[in-house]
Amino acid sequence: MRIILLGPPGAGKGTQAKTLAEKLNLPHISTGEMLRQMSQEDTQLGEHTKDFMNKGVLVPDELITQVLSRRISQPDTKNGFILDGYPRNLNQAQALDGMLKEKKIAIDLVIYLDTSEPVIIQRLSGRLVCSLCGANFHIKNMPPKSNMTCDNCGGKLYQRSDDKDETIRKRLEVYLRESSPLIQYYDERQKLYRIKADEASAIVLNKIIELAK
Ligand code: AMP
Repeated sequence: MRIILLGPPGAGKGTQAKTLAEKLNLPHISTGEMLRQMSQEDTQLGEHTKDFMNKGVLVPDELITQVLSRRISQPDTKNGFILDGYPRNLNQAQALDGMLKEKKIAIDLVIYLDTSEPVIIQRLSGRLVCSLCGANFHIKNMPPKSNMTCDNCGGKLYQRSDDKDETIRKRLEVYLRESSPLIQYYDERQKLYRIKADEASAIVLNKIIELAK
């Protein structure tokens, strides 16, 4: 099964995709996570990537599309994947359609996590991420058992540099302009399912699992 999770930053795409991937035994492909790893490399490309991300804007389509294309050609994607963070605009959606067509496969389900702005801000400003396994926590909604340490692997938790207030605003603006047209794109292709995603993550997960059955 090939699933795309759509939604604004803070909708819970990463958290849901991670759990869903474990349940369905499919790889979780997060372009944000791949880019965060690239941005740590001491290369010009790493520096550039970090720059885009810290500003809260999208990295160039050609770069991320190449990264994604390589990833979905890996053998572990043969039974499907959960895409989180790609596509991010219409150009990427068309590029993805082209890649899948070449492989004679298609997206089965696009799930739009519909989230209100106050919930987005609350989630992003309290989000903590594990530096080792990428798991997400939240200062209030999902606090780690031990201070700033990941429950799953013991890694150190940190606040993403793009989760600072002004960058959050910029990312929301970019989302509205670039990514929200994807809702209509997939709706017109009868792939889109909407889920109200303001509730606790376990409730949202159950709704997603129902759709993926
Ligand atoms: P995320 O972890 O999905 O919130 O992504 C974090 C940041 O990575 C975004 O604000 C963008 O700068 C960059 N990014 C992630 N996915 C994409 C994509 N598909 N296209 C362009 N930029 C992306």
